[in-house]
Amino acid sequence: MIVVMKRGATPEEIEHMIRRVEELGLKAHPIYGTERTVIAAIGEKRDEHRQSLESGAGVAEVVPILAPYKVASREVKPEPTVVRVGSLAAGNKHIGMIAGPCSVESEEQMISTAQAVKRAGATALRGGAFKPRTSPYSFQGLKEEGLRILAAARDETGLAVVTEVLAAEDVELVARWADVLQIGARNMQNYRLLEAAGETGRPILLKRGPAATMDELLLAAEYILNVGNPNVMLCERGIRTFETHTRFTLPLATVPYLHERTHLPVVVDPSHGTGHTNLVVPMACAAIAAGADGIMVEVHPDPEMAMSDGYQSLNFEQFGEAMALCRKMADCMGRQIMVNEEASSQK
Ligand code: PEP
Ligand code: MN
Repeated sequence: MIVVMKRGATPEEIEHMIRRVEELGLKAHPIYGTERTVIAAIGEKRDEHRQSLESGAGVAEVVPILAPYKVASREVKPEPTVVRVGSLAAGNKHIGMIAGPCSVESEEQMISTAQAVKRAGATALRGGAFKPRTSPYSFQGLKEEGLRILAAARDETGLAVVTEVLAAEDVELVARWADVLQIGARNMQNYRLLEAAGETGRPILLKRGPAATMDELLLAAEYILNVGNPNVMLCERGIRTFETHTRFTLPLATVPYLHERTHLPVVVDPSHGTGHTNLVVPMACAAIAAGADGIMVEVHPDPEMAMSDGYQSLNFEQFGEAMALCRKMADCMGRQIMVNEEASSQK
């Protein structure tokens, strides 16, 4: 259920209703919107609960939530969430552009990439220090050393750093260095990891599992929101189908579909979504046309020599061209690719 407070309900009335919800054995999740405050009441609902809450002071109405996810739903929070961290802003008018290599390979590779993507207009830097690889014999990432390199690249450029955390036991370490914790496609339904990552308070980029439905993605986001972390970005990165012409199939209808159902920003990853350098830029533009709040692309100084995913990475020149096209597309959509204006210490 959602307890919708009246416009102008007092803080005391809101506090009182939070206590009332808890007294009924439900979890109260208040969302303080610009227009009005709503309290999501989560747990087993009974009709008498609804009636009793409806008579509370300052309450406009009590409505049932129909979707299986609650706190992520538009019903609970109609206005879009804008995730802001350092240089990155994603949601509403802001489109975030997250660029960088698949894997952190060396300090030189990372710093040169950070400088190049910043010059072209990227608003955040990506790079994997812990890599989820299909084969245990493939490069597994530089791990802690990779995190240190990412932080050095942030110091050099002021770009917020997005990096993947693979396991609950690494969460504390990764959160110490990163601005955004990425939960990879393979881990979307690792619920303990979702909670542990959420508990750090760092914004989370949650990638869709290649076989996960939209409801499953939103319920995974709900695990993070439920530990009190409101800063979740959903990421469409392609699903597995019978098709073989692309590495995964990138369904862009996901973007407007999710926008109808959730207030959370939606990021699209056309690199993993297509698996081919030549398909990345058109699909990045298409994602912005579909309303994406962020794009994440792999960029490498020399894709041919990359230790992972070179075949889907852009070089610096290609990334510059991608940015120019994406900016035009954003403009058509009345959106802007821009750094977070609230970041105080930009370089
Ligand atoms: C990545 O972004 O580095 C990655 C491994 O992607 P995914 O989890 O979508 O496969
Ligand atoms: Mn990759």
